[in-house]
Amino acid sequence: MTMQSISTEDRVVIFDTTLRDGEQCPGASMTLEEKLQVAELLDHMGVDVIEAGFPVASDGDFAAVREIARRARSAVICGLARADIPDIDRCAEAIEPAKRGRIHTFIATSPLHIKHKLRMEPHEVLEAVTASVRHARSYTDDVEWSCEDGTRSEIDFLCRCVEAAILAGATTINIPDTVGYATPDEYRRLFETVRSRVPNSDRAVFSVHCHDDLGLAVANSLAGIAGGARQVECTINGIGERAGNASLEEVVMAIRTRCDAMPYVTGIESTMLMHASQLVSAVTSFPVQYNKAIVGRNAFAHESGIHQDGMLKNAQTYEIMTPESVGVSKSTLVMGKHSGRRAFREKLKELGYTFDEGTLEESFRLFKDLADRKKVVKDSEIEAVVAMATFSA
Ligand SMILES: [Zn+2]
Repeated sequence: MTMQSISTEDRVVIFDTTLRDGEQCPGASMTLEEKLQVAELLDHMGVDVIEAGFPVASDGDFAAVREIARRARSAVICGLARADIPDIDRCAEAIEPAKRGRIHTFIATSPLHIKHKLRMEPHEVLEAVTASVRHARSYTDDVEWSCEDGTRSEIDFLCRCVEAAILAGATTINIPDTVGYATPDEYRRLFETVRSRVPNSDRAVFSVHCHDDLGLAVANSLAGIAGGARQVECTINGIGERAGNASLEEVVMAIRTRCDAMPYVTGIESTMLMHASQLVSAVTSFPVQYNKAIVGRNAFAHESGIHQDGMLKNAQTYEIMTPESVGVSKSTLVMGKHSGRRAFREKLKELGYTFDEGTLEESFRLFKDLADRKKVVKDSEIEAVVAMATFSA
């Protein structure tokens, strides 16, 4: 697909909320300096919108959003605000230095939240939607409105709120699966229904925001895009409340790798994904699970003999994307008890050894003995094995 053939219809806006939804999860708080580092990398990587924080929550959050807004080069800098005038004022002040700033205001629309959390009547919620969006629009023409707990809201009421938000000037409408409860099919149909029933829906970009309580955040996000959404809210390494948010790197690489099935594009420079993952893991002290898709330590590692043999003949046998495309230098052949003769020979070559078949056989036998006792055999141990085999030969 050439750049010329990409219409805005196919472009998916990447909205990163690592610094807001990600940072607010237990144990992931970052210092101002760390937030600035992460924001700079996200901006550089091609993230379209960076949600930098919740300015009214604390002076620290306010200062971080304001400094990120001041330094941003191309990303839109967004702050979160409840549907209250003081929240929105504080948010507007924080994003004010940005070349392009967005106010993201939200209110819950599900019966459960309206009754028990907000203790409001539905008509009061509807009035608050109009008032908050209109107030935010007095500061910037880039206003996003979210219906918290959108997936558990009554569809008629949800549609009336979306229509009111767009009428008041919202340019992005986010329908979050706040509690991670939706299934992909339901979530796709929700977007189709809202977009077809709300008369002014063509005047806003629709957005997905999914949580991973059932491990469906990425699948739901992609389903929402199929339903017409064109913005994805996500985080690096999928960090976020409870089980986390949809992971940015998984969404980006799924779209990129399967563009035959999902004909969209993002503006993300994917070769920076690994670096972003490592930076966020380091500043939050949240380890990345070994088998995490895209950025896990084992995502491009192969140990079994059959897989290693295939990889050495043609990497496409067991890799659907290249490690280089996500910023990993190359696939690793992990030497262990599942490794075969061919991978062992390759490893020796990599370490600079050439042998006659007899020494090679003896080395391989010693290696297998060692591998039976150990999970992974290190290069230094392979060198020791080779020394022993050479000595006995
Ligand atoms: Zn969230």
